[in-house]
Amino acid sequence: MGETTKRIRASGGIAERLDVDGVELYALCDGYLDMELSRFPDVVRGIGDDLAIADGQDLNDMTVSVNAFLLRHGARLCLIDAGDGIWRGETLGFLPRALAKLGIAPDEITDLFMTHLHRDHAGGLFRDNRLVYPNANMHVAADEIAFWSTPELIDDVQRVQVPIAQAALEAYRERIFVIHPGEEILPGIAVRALPGHTPGQVGFQLGKERPLLIAADALHLPALQIKHPEWGFLFDVNQAQSLATRTTLLAEAAQSGLRLAGAHFPFPGVIGVTQGPEGLGFRNAAMP
Ligand SMILES: [Zn+2]
Repeated sequence: MGETTKRIRASGGIAERLDVDGVELYALCDGYLDMELSRFPDVVRGIGDDLAIADGQDLNDMTVSVNAFLLRHGARLCLIDAGDGIWRGETLGFLPRALAKLGIAPDEITDLFMTHLHRDHAGGLFRDNRLVYPNANMHVAADEIAFWSTPELIDDVQRVQVPIAQAALEAYRERIFVIHPGEEILPGIAVRALPGHTPGQVGFQLGKERPLLIAADALHLPALQIKHPEWGFLFDVNQAQSLATRTTLLAEAAQSGLRLAGAHFPFPGVIGVTQGPEGLGFRNAAMP
């Protein structure tokens, strides 16, 4: 097992402060998922193996972290995604423990900012048929609500995701705030469209001098997809749109220095995209 894989597997329940221009933002780890390579059907073995090994991973034994983020903004405690919870077994469901490390109880969370409603982002809203964050309002994009509410748009690959997405929308029905790309969800926190992985996926951008975009699932595997953004993920709803979003975002990040925080990057999940003579690369960028 490689070094990065070991680190990912050890990080469930961890919380770490991120440095974003005085914004109080933390990365939280819900745990990890073992990821079959068959979910990335376009990866070219050999080239892919070398890229994985250089990052301390092994394509035959792939693991991804499941990250969420916490933003403290005045009196508000905003959880950005809720992790997988316990749907997929004992390697996940440690988000409440990560919050406890910050001295925060789940019922103190005032807001849930959802990047999208896949199970590994919304599953952690529930445990034992109860809401884990009972006092929160939920903020979710109009296009995301529309997608999960329109069964004829949902194909066989996505069908497994429907119960949790619909349960989340139903549970928070009275407390949903519909968000739109381009708006500021809080002063200094901008909503950005990242369509493709799901039609209504959004990111949240924070900070001015050294900005950071919580980029959800625009890409999953920095070690592979920065060099090869065309190696798409089977669970992207629209592969072509996802590739366009990923390519544009990586170019912007390399050019402007915008840091990217990923829901599945090795914890704490923040990278800077670099431009060198051999094309794009990346570095750990939890601290700028
Ligand atoms: Zn995800």
